[in-house]
Amino acid sequence: MSHYQKPPELYDGLRLHQNENTGGCSPKVLEALANLRADQIGFYPPYAEATAAVAKYLGVSTDRITLTNGLDEGIMALSVACLQPSVAGPVLEAVVPEPAFEIFRFDTAVAGGRLVQVMPRPDFAFPLDDVLKVVRTRTRVVFLTNPNNPTGVGVPLEAIRAIAKAVPSRAVVFVDEAYAEFAGVSFIPELESYPNVIVGRTFSKAFGLAGLRIGCLVGAPDVMDPIRRAIPVYSVNIAAAVAVQAALQDLDHLNGYLQQVKASKSLLYDACDRLGLTYVKSSSNFVLVGAGDRTDALVKGAFARGVYLRDRSTEPGCAGCIRIGAGIVEHTARCIAVMDEVLCAAR
Ligand code: PMP
Repeated sequence: MSHYQKPPELYDGLRLHQNENTGGCSPKVLEALANLRADQIGFYPPYAEATAAVAKYLGVSTDRITLTNGLDEGIMALSVACLQPSVAGPVLEAVVPEPAFEIFRFDTAVAGGRLVQVMPRPDFAFPLDDVLKVVRTRTRVVFLTNPNNPTGVGVPLEAIRAIAKAVPSRAVVFVDEAYAEFAGVSFIPELESYPNVIVGRTFSKAFGLAGLRIGCLVGAPDVMDPIRRAIPVYSVNIAAAVAVQAALQDLDHLNGYLQQVKASKSLLYDACDRLGLTYVKSSSNFVLVGAGDRTDALVKGAFARGVYLRDRSTEPGCAGCIRIGAGIVEHTARCIAVMDEVLCAAR
């Protein structure tokens, strides 16, 4: 498959297949959107206030923040800036420890780069030695996700430091922190010491703003410069710029959701133990569940009952695995009831 296959547009059931916040955004966001004026919508959007709010939240200066139309846009811009081959130059390489967010693979192809996959260990522990082995002169990006998607497993900060020290001088280490709020771990405090590392963040997950599309890249301004040039000028719209400020003013909403995620993960682990399914302990808002030869029956049975789960079987190291969103407890309880029903009926 050479391009990203968007999951089907299913909005009439329980969406646990795209790692979204099923509880939605803060009511403060809705209020801010309702208060948008016609002239604000009539003008191209200003970014200074939204950038300042994001910089404050992440504890960095504003010149280290680039707002993007979802983190997806940041990843595409970074891929184009780092991997586009020069005329008659060599094909440049992106290293991706698998299993990974598939977009890295597809954006590398769009940018004209070559993908160098590092295959997973059976327990999904971070394969530092194997990553270091494939880093070479042509490496321009190492794509990491902490905690990883689809496994939920963290990347040790020490491994990120080791890779940042090992890559060639023109390469960038990209640390995708789409799920960092759930893990409570970030590489951002170390960025001044490691200027070749760019961190990506999104407001789609913990803040529930996926429909508005807003994320950011964080890093040294000069390293970010070529990436900024690959981002369309006004790609973040005014609704997203206003929404992110409102979301950041309601950290209680965020913390409430983090609590729900934690409780939901325990419920899912218990259910897996009871149903004879394996799972990987997750630092994120989803759990990778091993269902083996019951995978297809479980995904299809849940689908038929209006609960959408993501079959990850075709991802490296994930044969027989399903990724299940773990957000609002009430939703998790519904999912578990459906898992019980499907798996017990199949016995
Ligand atoms: N990175 C990872 C690891 C993700 O899982 C996702 C969302 N699926 C993204 C980036 C993209 O986030 P956004 O909605 O901000 O484009």
